[in-house]
Amino acid sequence: MTHVDPYFRKLTGNYLFSEISRQVAQFQAAYPEKRLIRLGIGDVTRPLPAAVVEAMTAAAAEQGTPAGFHGYGPEQGYPFLREAIALHDYQDRGIHVDPDEIFVSDGAKSDCGGIGDLFAAGNTVALCDPVYSVYLDTNVMAGRAGEFDPATGRWSGFLYLPCTAENGFVPAPPAEQADLIYLCFPANPTGASAGRAQLQAWVDYANDYNSVILFDGAYEAFVTTPGVPRSIFELPGARTCAIEFRSFSKTAGFTGTRCAYTVIPRELEREGVSLHRLWARRQATKTNGVCYVVQRGAQAVYTPAGRAQVAENLAYYRRNALTLRAGLTQTGLTVYGGVDSPYLWVKTPKDQTSQSFFRLLLEEAGVVTTPGSGFGPHGEGYIRLTSFGKAGETQEAAERIAALL
Ligand SMILES: *Cc1c(COP(=O)(O)O)cnc(C)c1O
Repeated sequence: MTHVDPYFRKLTGNYLFSEISRQVAQFQAAYPEKRLIRLGIGDVTRPLPAAVVEAMTAAAAEQGTPAGFHGYGPEQGYPFLREAIALHDYQDRGIHVDPDEIFVSDGAKSDCGGIGDLFAAGNTVALCDPVYSVYLDTNVMAGRAGEFDPATGRWSGFLYLPCTAENGFVPAPPAEQADLIYLCFPANPTGASAGRAQLQAWVDYANDYNSVILFDGAYEAFVTTPGVPRSIFELPGARTCAIEFRSFSKTAGFTGTRCAYTVIPRELEREGVSLHRLWARRQATKTNGVCYVVQRGAQAVYTPAGRAQVAENLAYYRRNALTLRAGLTQTGLTVYGGVDSPYLWVKTPKDQTSQSFFRLLLEEAGVVTTPGSGFGPHGEGYIRLTSFGKAGETQEAAERIAALL
C-alpha cells in the first residue's frame, strides 16, 4: 500500500493562475470573436536581448565541438557567471557579496520553493498577506502549516503579515517570534517597495530573534525611487540573517530560458550550522546545475551591450506601467504600485469583490487581470495588473477600462 504525503494532500484548490486560465479559456471559448488583452499572468513579452542570443548561439556551437564541449558543470554555477554577478550586481554597488556566496539555479521559484529543505518542520513561517503563493504552498507541502480555515482563508500555523493601504503594503515586524520570514520587495502582487528604514527593522528583528529572512528580489531591477534598497544586503546586519533570491526572468526576459541565483552569506549560521554549506550540499544532491549555454547567455547580460539592451526592455515596461497608472487614475480608480515595480495594485470601485471586478473587466472590457483575493484574504478588494504586455495593447487596455467605468 502506497501512502501519499499527508501535507501535500492538504493543499487546497487550484494553483491560482491555473484557475484564472480556466475561467479565461471558458470565456474565450464562449466568445471566440472577442480579442482579449492579457495583463494577468506575470510573464514578460519582450524577446531576449541580442547580446544574450549571440552568447547562447556561440555556446551552443561550442557544445558541438570536441574542444568546446561541456558536460556536467559545477552544481553551484560556472565561476564566469558567479563572478560577473558578484561584481556587477553587488560589488559595483558597494555591497559585500563574494562569488562563492552565489548559487546559480534554474529559477527563483525553484530556490524559494527548495530553501525550506534546510529548516525543521516546527519553524514558524511569517508570510505577507497578500503573497506570492509559492512561499505559502511549499510550506504547506513541508508540513509547516496547521489546518486551512475556509472561513478566514488562512492556515492556522502561519504568522500572517497584513499588507494594507494603511501600512503602504509594507508590514512591520510582528511582536511574536517568527522563524522563517518571506519578504518580497518590490512586491508581487502589490507592487509596493520597501524603504531602507522598513527593511532595517526586519533585519534587526531577524538578528534579535535568530530568525532567517528569505528575501525575494526578483523585481529589484524595477526600482527607480532614490534610496529604495535593491538588495537586502545593503542593510547592515543582513549577512547574519538573510538569504536573497534573484532571477534573470523579469530583468532580462529569461522566463522561458531559466536562470536565477541565490545568495547565502558565509556568516549565516543557525544552531552552529552554516546555511551556506547546507545549501551547497542540498544543491549538489538534488541538481546538476544549469545548462552551460544558458549560463553563457546570463553572463552576456552583464556586457555593455547586454546591459544597454536590458535597460531598454525595462524602460519599455516602465512606460507601460505609467500608461496604466495614468489611464486608470484618470478614470477615478485608486492605483498603487507601478513605480518601482511592473505590478499595479488597483482598488476595486464601489466595494466590489476582486472576483466580480475581475469578471467585469474580462466580460465588458476584454481585459484579463488577476483577482487580488487569489493572493490572500487581504488581497480582497483589489485586482493586479501587469505592465509586461505589449505597449499598444497596454494602451488599448487602459482605454477600454476608461470607456467602461
Ligand atoms: C516571477 C517571480 C520570480 C521569478 O521566478 P523564476 O523561477 O526565476 O522565473 C520569483 N519571485 C517572484 C515573486 C516572482 O513574481
